[in-house]
Amino acid sequence: MVQLETERHAFYAGKSQPTSASPGHIESIDPSTGKPLCKIHTSSYESVDAAIKSAEGAFPSWSATPPVERSRILQRAVSLLRQRNDALARVETLDTGKPFSETSTVDIVTGADVLEYFANSVASGGLNGESFRLRPSAMVYTSKEPLGVCAGIGAWNYPIQIALWKSAPCLAAGNCMVYKPSEFTPLHAEYLAEIYREAGLPDGVFNVIYGSGEVGAYLTAHPTIAKVSFTGQVATGKKVAGSAAGGMKYVTMELGGKSPLVVLPDAAVDQAVDIAMMANFFSSGQVCTNGTRVFVPSAMKKEFEKVLLAKMPFVRAGNLFDMTTNFGPLNSKVHHAKVVNYIRRGIEEDKATLLYGGLNQPANLSTNLREGYWIEPTVFTDCNDNMTIVQEEIFGPVMAILTYDTIDEAVQRANATELGLAAGVVGRDIDQCHLVISRLEAGITWINTWGESPAEMAVGGWKQSGLGVENGRRGLEAWVRNKSTIIEMGGSAGTVFSKL
Ligand code: NDP
Repeated sequence: MVQLETERHAFYAGKSQPTSASPGHIESIDPSTGKPLCKIHTSSYESVDAAIKSAEGAFPSWSATPPVERSRILQRAVSLLRQRNDALARVETLDTGKPFSETSTVDIVTGADVLEYFANSVASGGLNGESFRLRPSAMVYTSKEPLGVCAGIGAWNYPIQIALWKSAPCLAAGNCMVYKPSEFTPLHAEYLAEIYREAGLPDGVFNVIYGSGEVGAYLTAHPTIAKVSFTGQVATGKKVAGSAAGGMKYVTMELGGKSPLVVLPDAAVDQAVDIAMMANFFSSGQVCTNGTRVFVPSAMKKEFEKVLLAKMPFVRAGNLFDMTTNFGPLNSKVHHAKVVNYIRRGIEEDKATLLYGGLNQPANLSTNLREGYWIEPTVFTDCNDNMTIVQEEIFGPVMAILTYDTIDEAVQRANATELGLAAGVVGRDIDQCHLVISRLEAGITWINTWGESPAEMAVGGWKQSGLGVENGRRGLEAWVRNKSTIIEMGGSAGTVFSKL
């Protein structure tokens, strides 16, 4: 049973550490009401050291545990996650502000799927190396070796999913992890640590520390850490990757985006609008891959906007536990202020046309939700590529409609950004869709859909949007290093030093 705790502490050496020295605490807030939920005791540097030490102590035995046995433990954690899906989803809804209709069907489900995928993968040869005969008297074999103690740093938009996407391949490959959630959404972390423990994970293999960016910086720069897997903003990612480079650590960087959705001239308008809404309003726009730059043929603009306006009332704010609610508040007060500021800039400085939404809260909110961090889903049109709202990642429910006249022009403008996380195309001519997708500079792309990210599919950004991938077969490779061995059966290492 998952109870909503009122206090949370660092978790390492297989247990919660209520007595560990804590320099302060963070108040976890329910974004839908603005009311405090839980006190999170932050970790001192000594407590981060202790968490790393517990991981270091667990590593020799965990890395030597046969993959099939590691897999059995992780599979038990998968079952526990699925059994507790709704209770964990409730925690995520309270912590993130995402509707229960979403957290109960996506967040824990996709996290558990990835854990199952990597547990299965290592049990069925995913960590096998290769062997080959080099010459009649010599063979080569390779092995995939775990890296050691790894750091996982999470963003606030998909807290438990991010924790699972990082810890699943990390632990399955035989590494240990010290994980720091975002200070804005820390609640899931200790519940996950408890599930791993209950599943039989040895003490010290998965550890949790809490705190702000300063604690994250201390963790990622620590000399014992072999790899940093980071999800967050481009600017923070650059700092973390820079510090990791100094210690020659492995990194995976999952960073921000400003992704284009190109609606081709032959697209069905109804389908294009549905996809554009999914790409902008799911999770209230707080998705790294959101398709916020919607390129629509000039000739289709009027019809596209008409259909979109007719469908906007389907975005329903309200009580987050009502299964018909599909739109929540923004995650924090500070993020709310940032998104409002972008909408204001869109109106006042960019002078884009505000087609829907704006600076107000959704009109139907009940009184108890009025103090929450709500904003209406917003659509700007008549946008151009130079506008701030078109260039910068807003990370909120703000769609920008841009028109184009030729497909070449749309592709060139879609690529005119330093970011390259995701991209999508909607159209009926599937050959044309493939041709356009092949020209778009992004690591995650969709044709006639948006947003699905299954365990089997590697995901990662191009350009400034990241380094490396998570998930899929390549996702496991990111948590191992290669060792190559030559076996000489001819009885000699060669003749160079065997004679004068
Ligand atoms: P931030 O970069 O602000 O923070 C991410 C994490 O890094 C948090 O845990 C944060 O702690 C921590 N942190 C902050 N400073 C440092 C530092 N110097 N060293 C180490 N850790 C540090 O990102 P957000 O939490 O605001 O997340 C939103 C961003 O994440 C968006 O840009 C979004 O696009 C991106 N994202 C990318 C995804 C992808 O797969 N590509 C998926 C999800 C989100 P604290 O929160 O306590 O400050």
